[in-house]
Amino acid sequence: MPTRPNWQINRPIEYPYEAAPPQRQVAYVFDVNKCIACQTCTVACKTAWTSGKGQETTFFNNVESKPYGGYPLAWDSRLLEGIGPAKWKQDSLVSLTIFETDGPRKPPHGWRPTFEDYTSPNIGEDDLSGPVERGETFGPTHPHWMFYLARICNHCDNPACVAACPRKAVYKRDEDGIVLVDQERCRGYRECVKACPYKKVFFNTIARASEKCIGCYPRVEQGEVALCVESCIGKIRMHGFRTTQGAPREDNPLDYITRIRKLALPLYPQFGTGPNVFYVPPVHVPDGFLDQVFGPGVEAAKELYRAINAPENRTLLGALLLFGASNRIIDRFAVEGNEAVGWDLTGTEVARVPFTEPSYIRPAFDQALGAHRLNTT
Ligand code: SF4
Ligand code: SF4
Ligand code: SF4
Repeated sequence: MPTRPNWQINRPIEYPYEAAPPQRQVAYVFDVNKCIACQTCTVACKTAWTSGKGQETTFFNNVESKPYGGYPLAWDSRLLEGIGPAKWKQDSLVSLTIFETDGPRKPPHGWRPTFEDYTSPNIGEDDLSGPVERGETFGPTHPHWMFYLARICNHCDNPACVAACPRKAVYKRDEDGIVLVDQERCRGYRECVKACPYKKVFFNTIARASEKCIGCYPRVEQGEVALCVESCIGKIRMHGFRTTQGAPREDNPLDYITRIRKLALPLYPQFGTGPNVFYVPPVHVPDGFLDQVFGPGVEAAKELYRAINAPENRTLLGALLLFGASNRIIDRFAVEGNEAVGWDLTGTEVARVPFTEPSYIRPAFDQALGAHRLNTT
């Protein structure tokens, strides 16, 4: 079986599909610490792409609560039960990926959800990691925790959905790495639904075909960020391109945050698919849980995030300030004085965000308008 390098687990994997890396790769960074679970992203995607018949339980974007929430039901713990806990030696994965668990020439290890698994999207939402006793109050450090996890298709480097499809109806685009389902070729075998470890392929029972996040490719082709990114109320998201040909670029915000500074990490890297959604981990959550979810780099990422205001991290903070600052894909960024500046793929400046918001003090009585101002902040 062909092998290919996987930089996220620091070793090659067996991957049953031949394909060169794309020219460049769409990638996303989500700052988990800032998500408020308003679900605006979910609604923006749903109204744009999946409001038709047979798509009632289809959520290309969903936001769930960890440790107990999940859509479809227990999508991650059911797979983890099958492949076992991740084992690492420093930053190299020792345990087997989903492509290796069942042996050579076998489809990726997976499971297929039933209709019932999609019917209770709110089970486990907003539940804490432990019971709160009567009379107990939260001090500065919470004894119990939860966090919101926004999820879309990862447009993986080694997509399990692509590897599993006997019809070759799922494919990865060379120009941007977006993974799509060819609706004409799909015969509804649902091997992709079973194989995707993130359960981000959905079966449309009316169309009798699989459907998945399209990466908002019509927008990406125009140099615009995805709808779920543009609509994000908490400005937790950045969307752009990761460099696949050559070394990561210091002036590319996605490369800088993920590859160079390693502030954001892939979700369940032990699955082996090389996901391209990266998460700034929640700093209030214990390492033991996060080690399984984000891998061994999580403690360093949390420390870095806590020290984000240090002078040596000013460029990194500048990159974070550009989250949600433009509906254009930011290809290049720099810090200029007190501002973070972003340029799109055409070289046009599309964002300029100050490190410190200016404050304006105006007289209480506005002579020009003849009006008194109330003291608002
Ligand atoms: S997250 Fe799932 S559906 Fe998306 S590319 Fe990866 S394997 Fe395929
Ligand atoms: S990238 Fe587009 S299609 Fe995919 S989840 Fe976001 S809004 Fe939906
Ligand atoms: S819109 Fe942003 S803040 Fe709101 S739930 Fe989605 S990712 Fe979280």
